[in-house]
Amino acid sequence: MQASAYQFWHPMLHPNEMKVREPIRIVRGDGCHVFDDGGNRLVDGVAGLWNVNVGHNRPELKRAIAAQLDELEYFQIFDGLSHPRAEELSNLLIDMLAPEDMRRVFYSSGGSDAVETALRLARQYWKVAGQPERTKFISLKQGYHGTHFGGASVNGNMVFRRSYEPLLPGCYHIETPWTYRNPFTEDPEELAHICATLLEREILFQGPDTVAAFIAEPVQGAGGVIVPPASYWPLVRAVCDKYGVLLIADEVVTGFGRTGAAFGSRLWGVKPDIMCLAKGITSGYFPLGATAFNQRIVDAFDGNDDFSGAIFHGYTYSGHPVACATALANLKIVRDENLAANAARMGDYLLQKLLPFAECYAAVGEVRGKGLMLALDLVTDKRSREPIDPANGYAARVAEIARLHGALVRPVGTKIILSPPLVFNQQHVDALVAALDA
Ligand code: PLP
Repeated sequence: MQASAYQFWHPMLHPNEMKVREPIRIVRGDGCHVFDDGGNRLVDGVAGLWNVNVGHNRPELKRAIAAQLDELEYFQIFDGLSHPRAEELSNLLIDMLAPEDMRRVFYSSGGSDAVETALRLARQYWKVAGQPERTKFISLKQGYHGTHFGGASVNGNMVFRRSYEPLLPGCYHIETPWTYRNPFTEDPEELAHICATLLEREILFQGPDTVAAFIAEPVQGAGGVIVPPASYWPLVRAVCDKYGVLLIADEVVTGFGRTGAAFGSRLWGVKPDIMCLAKGITSGYFPLGATAFNQRIVDAFDGNDDFSGAIFHGYTYSGHPVACATALANLKIVRDENLAANAARMGDYLLQKLLPFAECYAAVGEVRGKGLMLALDLVTDKRSREPIDPANGYAARVAEIARLHGALVRPVGTKIILSPPLVFNQQHVDALVAALDA
């Protein structure tokens, strides 16, 4: 029977698109390359979907998965049950997150789950802490926090919200400190102050005793790789502290080295109360999400001995043994090969090679990035910074031509996003840039 890509629903796409075009079938991966079904070798400029950080086809990971399947393919961790891999991974994560003072993790199956867990437990935290009116969430425009109802409610992009409204009540969105496009100022530090002040004003407007948490990505990913000014996150932490609001860092993309620092929060020198992790935790070899909590949260739950301190939250696949074994093997590579440092080095090299595009090409308004997360912002007019019409297919055409020249890049609305594996080297960068240049 002829394989068909029309019988399954492709995420984030109109189904009719699959009637008019053949999908690009990726059939194999090796290192920083993938191969399509025509045998073409392509530089993976997107690491799968921001996640294959250690590269494709790593024997260490395949061995770890096989060994775990031999030992125990699955058992639940409900009802007081446990297994060694979940415990070992928790030790490792708490160790890796020591500078952020994280004390306990909760497991799920991916980034949307990790965010949902953060939002639900933030709400419950305030109930066990004796302030049940604190239920509201504040987040950033352009932010992306996955597709569950909670995550969609704090998402800052209409396309992910409109079709699913009404979403959670009590979610409010404020301006992102985006130097390239904002109504305030071109000065990054001034912008950081303005945007942190907007957070404070929103908390005051809502009533601090009603706000549960502020959630944001340390560097916005899907929204177009928006890197905040250096002072923004410390200012946000100070505002949250002033009003007792929890700070949730959605590190689903930025965690485990992508920005050039071990975690995005560390890049900004900030300790969140809750951290959402996924993607790079297993490099995509097995689905896993994790949400980490600090002492403040742990103490509130542990110190509460009535029924409200029990967590009525959990997934069949919480702490899946194979997922945990995969993460253990993957994070060993991330640490041993110091992939955060390589992301910083290669990210800088890639950025330097791409910056001239903004001079040479009329359609490239800005090139920006941090570590190995980068974006080209496409415009119709450099001076006004008017974005291209996302419906005119320009970004998709750029990606298609890049692919014909041997590299996979990601068209997202009015941007081209690059997020290669963290094991990228200079030859990979050169090949990626040459394909984009074409
Ligand atoms: N949070 C952020 C910052 C993300 O970028 C993503 C996905 O790209 C998610 C959450 C959702 O993760 P998942 O697609 O694994 O559910």
